[in-house]
Amino acid sequence: MSAKQAPTGAPGAPIGILGGTFDPVHNGHLRLAMELATELKLAQVRLIPNGRPPHREQPGATPGQRAKWIRVATADEPLLALDDRELLRRGHSYTVDTLASLRTDFPDRPLCLIMGRDVFAKLPSWHRWEALFEHAHIVLIERPGLHAELAPEARELLAERGVDDIRALHEHLAGAIYSYAPPPLAISASRIRALIATGASPRYLLPEVILEDIMDTDIYRAPAQSAE
Ligand code: ATP
Repeated sequence: MSAKQAPTGAPGAPIGILGGTFDPVHNGHLRLAMELATELKLAQVRLIPNGRPPHREQPGATPGQRAKWIRVATADEPLLALDDRELLRRGHSYTVDTLASLRTDFPDRPLCLIMGRDVFAKLPSWHRWEALFEHAHIVLIERPGLHAELAPEARELLAERGVDDIRALHEHLAGAIYSYAPPPLAISASRIRALIATGASPRYLLPEVILEDIMDTDIYRAPAQSAE
């Protein structure tokens, strides 16, 4: 693990894990990670780009580009870091395997898996989902417009494991669910891709250095394909 990748916050403080396609990474992701790091007193948030997402179209940018943009965007911020372990594995990575691998690297730190309520609503359909709680807490992100109806199993989980004090995230290595509503930022990668495809500017929605890199290539110039 490089020095940049090692958490720099309080010793033993939890590590946040934000997975996604990051096609491209934008200020919505980066600001969310900062809010969480500060509010939940995390040692670090690791942004983990996924390899080949099974349930959606394949990313427009290559894994190398997506990882590079995260590295560049987080280079000056010790609370944020790229974690490219899913890209280094062949094929699809199950979240439970990624968490097991993080647990091996960080045996003594709580892990906080960050996910939107819409994703949590479908958790009981995930591969070995119950094992997630052996490795990590879940931080549930409430976003306006994403009031997904929870499956009965997800509702029960929340009732059993829900906590409303961040101390639970610090005092135990795994197993709790904490809900958090960050100040909303209406930014999405699909909107950025759509703007570029139509020749409009996505300036200020993502770091300038990434935008310049995107504009230097033909990436996203083809007609945008919506993620929906
Ligand atoms: P797309 O528009 O291509 O679906 P996205 O911008 O939603 O992409 P992802 O890479 O799928 O980005 O997102 C990674 C994680 O970041 C997801 O959990 C997603 O819910 C969250 N996220 C993305 N944008 C925001 C935002 N503006 N505010 C808060 N969370 C966000």
